[in-house]
Amino acid sequence: MIVTKFGGTSVGDAAAIRRTAEIVRGRLDRGPVVVVSAMTKVTDALLGIAEQAVAGKELPALQAVSALRARHFAEVDDLLGTGAAATDVCADLSVMFDELASLTEALAVLGHATPRSLDTIAAMGELMSSRLIVAAYEQMGIPAVLVDPRRVIRTDDTFMHAEPQRDAIAIAGREEIMPHVRAGRVPVLGGFVGATREGITTTMGRGGSDYTAALLGAAMRADAIEIWTDVDGMLTADPRVVSGARLIERIRFDEASELASFGAKVLHPSTIAPAVRLGIPVFVYNSRRPGGAGTLITFDAPLRPVTAIAGKGPTAVVKVRSSRMLLAPGFLRTIFEVFERHRTSVDVVSTSEVSVSLTVDQMDRLDAIVADLTTLGDVAVERERGVVAIVGAGLSDDAGAMARALEALRGIKVQMLSLSATGINLTIIVGADEVAPAMRRLHDAFFGSPETTGDGG
Ligand code: ADP
Ligand code: ASP
Ligand code: MG
Repeated sequence: MIVTKFGGTSVGDAAAIRRTAEIVRGRLDRGPVVVVSAMTKVTDALLGIAEQAVAGKELPALQAVSALRARHFAEVDDLLGTGAAATDVCADLSVMFDELASLTEALAVLGHATPRSLDTIAAMGELMSSRLIVAAYEQMGIPAVLVDPRRVIRTDDTFMHAEPQRDAIAIAGREEIMPHVRAGRVPVLGGFVGATREGITTTMGRGGSDYTAALLGAAMRADAIEIWTDVDGMLTADPRVVSGARLIERIRFDEASELASFGAKVLHPSTIAPAVRLGIPVFVYNSRRPGGAGTLITFDAPLRPVTAIAGKGPTAVVKVRSSRMLLAPGFLRTIFEVFERHRTSVDVVSTSEVSVSLTVDQMDRLDAIVADLTTLGDVAVERERGVVAIVGAGLSDDAGAMARALEALRGIKVQMLSLSATGINLTIIVGADEVAPAMRRLHDAFFGSPETTGDGG
């Protein structure tokens, strides 16, 4: 069997959903299990509704619920017309939208949302899109069957960033999904969503549908995992930043994983892990151009000094100076424990004899972290920073490449620099507004793209 995952833009409207149906039809002989995201921007809209409700803006929040309802019903109309199937889907969606409206009112009264209630709301996008897509597939003659991801993707109760429980997922996959595949049916599940042992709805973090695809692929030993999105595959940079970005036809697992964690959101970072361990190939394809070569993520891709450039921001740099203690055994551990206590992960680290610099993307606990660190030394925080990553498995063996990277950045102030222990990622911290220009210059230096525009967009 294979896992076929369609991202938000790939199921963004009726026409896009029809394209995915044709892609699935072309794979029926391979036993596809389909994972779908919420329709484009729906997760953002749902979280926005919760935010408005909590802020006491009940009326606009309820209007946004109505707008989402209208959007989904318009797609049902386009895909299914007015028959019995359409009535069934509308009835099911109505139940969900009524629940969403009630939750919105409840949050407005409480003026507060727990991560658990936010997950109940955020999960609705995938639960709705999958319901709609199953009906559309059936109408188009594909033997699709809806599977509730909460019966399969067992997680812990870290709401909004739930940790999947692999063993339980493997068992559930065998029981809830494989019988359908064996019988020639096409299971369709919403991604991103799971549930605790008690059946409480969770989500696995933004972009988590890729994760669902990888978890299922690993649990059921899929022959391949296909991530269908709105670009031709993994490119040498984010095409929204670098207009001359090019397709990478084969990329190594470790490179793809580094790129994902440093801003190439085409793939969720954790996606790679469960699949890598089992050597399952992961492909990235464009659902608008299904005939394209796409990208194969594999162990044996060519070794290149630079495979791609990524970037992200804003990021905060935290600097701790302590002339007395830095070299004392256990001092770094004490610093990291502060971050751990505040459940904030550290991204890039560099140390010198008297100071350590660390970057974090997640800023909500930053003030509390700084307060704790102050007991250990002098602390300074720079919030308006961004990260640029130059990724290539052959990077550390190519002294010329490093020199070219720094040369390309002439005139841009480098705030911090770090080469990963694996030697495949040279990470450079710059001002947040310099990330895009730095990416374009680096891309020019390594991939020379004549179409690249100035530093503006
Ligand atoms: P989906 O909705 O299919 O999950 P995402 O928006 O999560 O899609 O990811 C696709 C987007 O990732 C692309 O539109 C592209 O702008 C962005 N992206 C960032 N870096 C890269 C890269 N190196 N290669 C391809 N896409 C990239
Ligand atoms: N819909 C979720 C999000 O927007 C998950 C996903 O699309 O991967 O984050
Ligand atoms: Mg995504």
